[in-house]
Amino acid sequence: MLYKVYLSDFMLIVFRYGHRAFRDIRVTTHCALVSRVFGADKLVYYGQRDDSFEKSLQKTVGQWGGKFKVEYAEDFVDYLTKKKEEGFKIVHLTMFGVNLPDFEPYFKKLRKEKKILIFVGAEKVPGEVYKIADYNVAVGNQPHSEIAALAVFLDRLQEGKELKKKYPGAKTKIKNGFRNTLKE
Ligand code: SAM
Repeated sequence: MLYKVYLSDFMLIVFRYGHRAFRDIRVTTHCALVSRVFGADKLVYYGQRDDSFEKSLQKTVGQWGGKFKVEYAEDFVDYLTKKKEEGFKIVHLTMFGVNLPDFEPYFKKLRKEKKILIFVGAEKVPGEVYKIADYNVAVGNQPHSEIAALAVFLDRLQEGKELKKKYPGAKTKIKNGFRNTLKE
């Protein structure tokens, strides 16, 4: 395998900027669920602290297993700067970035990294994020959704292998799906 996505020394963080309690709870929850299933280790969010969002995620992890975490960041510039110092490569998903089909050569480099942070917005993202980011990447240069952008980017990064991830400690597991729907 080209890269070490599932080794314990690989760390993939999703940073959700600008969370507004009540208004964004559904979208931020979906960002977290997508991050978890598409191979991220944790979602860090910035904006309004939201206990009900954190609790609902903990409940999902308790039921469906794995070690996915949710954390709150007090200051996004401080957080991103520290992560860069720790060796993280920062990818900012934005419609203004390099379009995904043109990003293919950089995926090859990124897959060799051991620490990656993927930044998504909610409300307008401040200009400094574009400068702090190592890569500003668009999933199509048209406005759409942070949830969709995250899913597509994470899956391309890991080439679908993340969907085979195991979730230790799960109370609920789906074994083999509806195999009778496969024509063999
Ligand atoms: N109006 C906001 C702005 O000007 O930044 C964008 C709001 S958009 C609903 C929220 C987030 O979705 C963006 O910050 C970005 O992370 C993500 N997003 C939206 N369209 C995207 C695209 N084409 N490619 C990558 N990310 C995108």
